[in-house]
Amino acid sequence: MPNSLENKIVLITGASSGFGEHAAHLFAREGCKVVLAARRLERLQALAEEIQSAGGEALIVPVDVAQRAEIELMVQTVLDVYGQIDILFNNAGFGRLDWFENLDPGRDIETQIDVNLLGLIQVTRAVLPHMIARRTGHIINMSSVAGWLAAPLYSVYAATKFGVRGFTEALRREVRHMGIHVSGIYPGGAATEFSLHTGDNSIKRSFKTPAGLRMTAEFVAEQVVRIAKRPRRTLIIPWWMRPVIWLNSHFPATADWFQMHFARKYHNV
Ligand code: NDP
Repeated sequence: MPNSLENKIVLITGASSGFGEHAAHLFAREGCKVVLAARRLERLQALAEEIQSAGGEALIVPVDVAQRAEIELMVQTVLDVYGQIDILFNNAGFGRLDWFENLDPGRDIETQIDVNLLGLIQVTRAVLPHMIARRTGHIINMSSVAGWLAAPLYSVYAATKFGVRGFTEALRREVRHMGIHVSGIYPGGAATEFSLHTGDNSIKRSFKTPAGLRMTAEFVAEQVVRIAKRPRRTLIIPWWMRPVIWLNSHFPATADWFQMHFARKYHNV
């Protein structure tokens, strides 16, 4: 039997666009009270109004997940209003995709680690004690196929998403006996605003996932809600990425050959 999500309190980071925005709509439709967290308040406001006009309940909390003080305030605000957090969807993130030597040490390298990895860890640290106290909860961490398969141009992004995978696996094993589920979700390319923030590497821009293979944000959000209803350790989507990841880990020399060929051809320094 799938879990009922009726009246669950769901905290979503990165709710102002893409997967987070669509997941907010779907969780609200399931009867959840959704807490919308991100930096762009006007986007959160518009989303909250859409959810409320469809009969749902939404609370807006501004947060930059790279700022620990803002994370503390976000979690305290949710607890003050609702007294609990049942589901945490750790989704905020971005990727700056370029040859490693072109990445700016602050804006691209530190900030990616601060948001994608440290931010996710610190949000979890702030929420988990309240789940432990209630002996229930579900943490859903957004990683990426780049958390399994590290391609050229993805060096720091992949480092953060491999990090999310390691954190997710260890935490799941630590807290499962306390009634808390921890899941990792690993999508391939999807049509969101992600590509607006990847930087200006011309090779990356011309090698986007072909439109026909890109998932929609709705589809990814549906999988997040599905995991909330039927918790599982890991979900890699789309399905055909699973054999690709298997080949990458079992035939590393072949995977290297393809990717080094790509780098040799386009990495003109
Ligand atoms: P979007 O750019 O549409 O959404 C990213 C969200 O993250 C926005 O809501 C943004 O909100 C939020 N965010 C970014 N930085 C911060 C920050 N410092 N503090 C709080 N929120 C922040 O992209 P997606 O929906 O595609 O991305 C969502 C997640 O999915 C990311 O973790 C991404 O790495 C991952 N992913 C994406 C894939 C894709 O192909 N699209 C594939 C695999 C994984 P705001 O700017 O308002 O703060």
